[in-house]
Amino acid sequence: MIAANWKLHKNINELNAYFDEFQKHITADVPAVFFTSPILLDRATQLVSSMNNISTGAQNISENTSGAFTGETSLDQVLSTGAQWALVGHSERRTLFGETDALVHKKVKLATEANLNVLLCVGESLAERESGQTEDVILRQLSLGLADLRPDNLALAYEPVWAIGTGKVATVTQASAAHKVLKAALVEMGLKDTPILYGGSVKSTNAKELLTDPYINGLLVGGASLDALEFSKIFNAARET
Ligand code: PEP
Repeated sequence: MIAANWKLHKNINELNAYFDEFQKHITADVPAVFFTSPILLDRATQLVSSMNNISTGAQNISENTSGAFTGETSLDQVLSTGAQWALVGHSERRTLFGETDALVHKKVKLATEANLNVLLCVGESLAERESGQTEDVILRQLSLGLADLRPDNLALAYEPVWAIGTGKVATVTQASAAHKVLKAALVEMGLKDTPILYGGSVKSTNAKELLTDPYINGLLVGGASLDALEFSKIFNAARET
């Protein structure tokens, strides 16, 4: 699975041209998900509906189902667009918006129980890596994020915070080691089929190498997903591996 995280980029007027260009260049038939701003979700979902294996997702959902929560986006609002995914626990949500593991858990529970697929993000900061805490941090984020949940509509993304938007991609060895640890934990939880995506400065020039690793089951792409041609190359790399 190849996922795009558009963050606070793009507007409604840019969607047609993007998906036309993307569709023109893709040769792979692997699942792809576009995580867009809630404003774009309805239109983006319509535009990908004719494309095989391509779906959309919200970058965040509220832990509250309805009520006086100005500026939030509810699960029901996301589902009503036809979007099939929610990104939960992205490091920008954790660091910039103070999302805790407990809050991440609430969102995973709400979404997965409503049949919205969840891409749960985990990853260590540079300071945590340098002080040897990588494994502890990602295993804590996984176990507290899921707690007692064992959803089959879940994918995991390993995104080292120091590699997101910095141009510093983790080496295949670093990524593979983290994925292996996460895989073992998932197997122990009875979730052996949950795919683990790598995210952090993925580009068309490093996608193929990352995807050849047996523990890396897909990619989550931020900056490089904003250009349709570049993202199509990353997407096509999934077919070649
Ligand atoms: C992300 O935002 O999830 C991400 C991986 O960003 P980038 O590819 O720009 O590092």
